[in-house]
Amino acid sequence: MNFQQLSNLQYWSSLFSSPWSILINVIDILIVAYILYQFTKSIAGTKIMILVRGVLVFILAQIVANTLGLTTISWLINQLITYGVIAAVVIFSPEIRTGLERLGRATDFFSSTPMSSEEQMIQAFVKAVEYMSPRKIGALVSVQRVRTLQEYISTGIPLDAKISAELLINIFIPNTPLHDGAVIIKGDRIAVTSAYLPLTEDTGISKEFGTRHRAAIGLSEVSDALTFVVSEETGGISITYNGVFKHDLTMEEFEEELRRILIPENSQEPSLTERILGGWKNEKK
Ligand code: ATP
Ligand code: MG
Repeated sequence: MNFQQLSNLQYWSSLFSSPWSILINVIDILIVAYILYQFTKSIAGTKIMILVRGVLVFILAQIVANTLGLTTISWLINQLITYGVIAAVVIFSPEIRTGLERLGRATDFFSSTPMSSEEQMIQAFVKAVEYMSPRKIGALVSVQRVRTLQEYISTGIPLDAKISAELLINIFIPNTPLHDGAVIIKGDRIAVTSAYLPLTEDTGISKEFGTRHRAAIGLSEVSDALTFVVSEETGGISITYNGVFKHDLTMEEFEEELRRILIPENSQEPSLTERILGGWKNEKK
């Protein structure tokens, strides 16, 4: 046994020397894991993520070069890492400044949590429907949840755009190339427009609801997606989710329903009386 291994062994046993040190180490690891998780989540999809990935590749190459004893390559990578840090500070100074400013304000440094992106999405949906419903602009929007909608996404026209009320409204303006079919939201992006959704085979649905509504119901029967519809004929607002079709919603009911489904933390279980009375007045199934 050499010295290195011995010191390692001592190090490892010191971690478990007392229940107190185990607890402290566990807390330490959990905090670091949480910070790393939040950091990765907050930079995912940003320019900084590309930089972080590049740096990781360099570090990995450095470890490999060191292990194999490739001293020249190892030296070269070392130089690159040293100057790379300086270059990164210069290149990413605007991002670093914004990040530090946010941290300084002691507000939410890791602000792009799912909560806030879902909140932004709900606000965009509400604003778009507020515009489309009174003007009877027909719309069909599905939000992918846990189960993938890839099968239906592949039938649409790729967009991959940031969600905004203005864009949603624009997509559904009649007689424009993208207005037909469904918009599918994946994560916090509009993945595609003009997608074809499966129609429900349920014959018990009122004839006043045509194929747009049947497609919304159909998708909710085969996936956990949330879909909302604005009727072109009546301006009526509907939501389908897990096979349940709720129609003729008011703006308040629509927003409440979006929140209940998309932000589970805010969801309130229906009370016993509500459940016994059958819950929703407009529920179809
Ligand atoms: P509205 O109340 O808006 O008229 P509706 O339920 O009566 O809706 P239709 O009048 O049949 O439905 O609406 C037709 C539109 O619905 C089509 O132009 C198309 O944009 C959309 N649509 C129909 N079927 C599908 C489908 N399977 N997948 C996606 N979109 C569909
Ligand atoms: Mg119709």
